[in-house]
Amino acid sequence: MSRRDDIAAGYESVQARIAHAAQACGRDASEITLVVVTKFFPASDVEILAELGVRDVGENRHQEAMTKAAQLGGLGLRWHYIGGLQSNKAAAVASYSDVVHSIDRAKLVGGLSRGAQARARDLDVLVQVSLDPPDAIGRAGVDPADLLQLADQVVSTPHLKLRGLMAVAPLGEQPSTAFARLAQIRTGFLAVHPEAIWLSAGMSGDLEEAIAAGATHVRVGGAILGSRPALP
Ligand SMILES: *Cc1c(COP(=O)(O)O)cnc(C)c1O
Repeated sequence: MSRRDDIAAGYESVQARIAHAAQACGRDASEITLVVVTKFFPASDVEILAELGVRDVGENRHQEAMTKAAQLGGLGLRWHYIGGLQSNKAAAVASYSDVVHSIDRAKLVGGLSRGAQARARDLDVLVQVSLDPPDAIGRAGVDPADLLQLADQVVSTPHLKLRGLMAVAPLGEQPSTAFARLAQIRTGFLAVHPEAIWLSAGMSGDLEEAIAAGATHVRVGGAILGSRPALP
């Protein structure tokens, strides 16, 4: 099979999984956006995805994301930045991203706002919530106890549009348990920010559980593109 056939098969199978998962919990699959995570994969794969009709792609490392977004600017893709952010790179990330999923501290909002302003457009952003225990190593995401305060900071920052929440299920916990906790956190969040209805959750291994818990955006790499190559 050609690379294109492989990717087409993976893409179709993930679309079928999304449709099935939506149906299983009485949701409309059209309210779920598939973000194909292209990190570590070459630009040629992103071109194939665009030809297959993919509109949303996700990257998690600034240098690689910036290079691809510049090289593939003509494809009409929406670029989702889903990785860890450094505050000194935040403005640069906002210069090519359409959506940033991973705001987890107040230090990032100024740079993201400046980058969006330089581009003369508002930036869609999500606050990443941690589902890890408080003492977890390498924890990403804001502590749920601090979520509303961070969301307030985002809302009061020009050029940032708060769209919702993002989370990753911790390793070593049932995704359904972790995502049930996320759904509960989201209920409290939506009471204060009823317009911020996006929920970015679910990856190759747990997209069904995420959709059952209300995900509006799933971020899927391996199940479409295969196992990731080594660092480019
Ligand atoms: C890499 C990555 C994904 C995709 O993971 P797969 O298991 O390949 O589907 C999703 N979300 C984030 C934050 C990632 O870094």
